[in-house]
Amino acid sequence: MIDQQPIGRSPRSNPITYLKAFDDVRALFGSLPEARRNGLGPAHFSFNTSGGRCEYCLGTGYEKLEMYFFEDLYATCDRCNGHRFNPHVLSVRYRGKNIHEVLNLTVDDAQAFFSGTTRLTRKLWLLSSIGLGYLRLGQSATTLSGGEAQRLKIAAELKDTSARDLLYILDEPTTGLHLDDIRKLIAVLGKLVDAGNTVVVVEHNLDVIKCADWIVDLGPEGGDDGGRLVAQGTPEQVVQVPESHTGRFLKPLLGKTG
Ligand SMILES: [Zn+2]
Repeated sequence: MIDQQPIGRSPRSNPITYLKAFDDVRALFGSLPEARRNGLGPAHFSFNTSGGRCEYCLGTGYEKLEMYFFEDLYATCDRCNGHRFNPHVLSVRYRGKNIHEVLNLTVDDAQAFFSGTTRLTRKLWLLSSIGLGYLRLGQSATTLSGGEAQRLKIAAELKDTSARDLLYILDEPTTGLHLDDIRKLIAVLGKLVDAGNTVVVVEHNLDVIKCADWIVDLGPEGGDDGGRLVAQGTPEQVVQVPESHTGRFLKPLLGKTG
């Protein structure tokens, strides 16, 4: 069930950790000659464990100010200036950027930046392919919308290409998406199917519906006046059923590409 629930309440969770791609970034930084000379390994480039992170803010980059009568306030950590790591770690650079600057890259920019590191760029490409290329690698999961969280979950599923014979249920995945992002989403769902899985989508969006192999049209109206099977079949079959509102709206779209 790939829903729109947040991927985590912890501000430490972010797109790149969710896809387990941060391990690749840390391994890369830890293997640099500059890091080795300073006695730093992959573990020092983690903001979750002590060693390389700023111990004052415990690697979050901010301090939480507990307010008794209001919501908690967050202020930038004045030891690391929000950079999350100690100066030792921040002095190590890969292609001119330190770990903090890398976490501030967008997914799209990071793909170009890390060109040549196939495993990592493939995971980043997955995020772009579902329209999340604008997210920053280190962006806190708590700032993601429901739709963004849902697509991140889909990307995490796609990352594991060994998964087969799974049934995915998605509840209105196009909510809040622009037309271009809906196209990307449809392409991604197609990849899940091509990989041997089954995808069930609860959806009103006609661009998604027309791409289905099989439509189950419930109606005829919404709420109490609906819930009965009006039509089912391929899109071409459903448009032949006069009682189906979906079929009526679907008809002009069939035969069009895009
Ligand atoms: Zn700090």
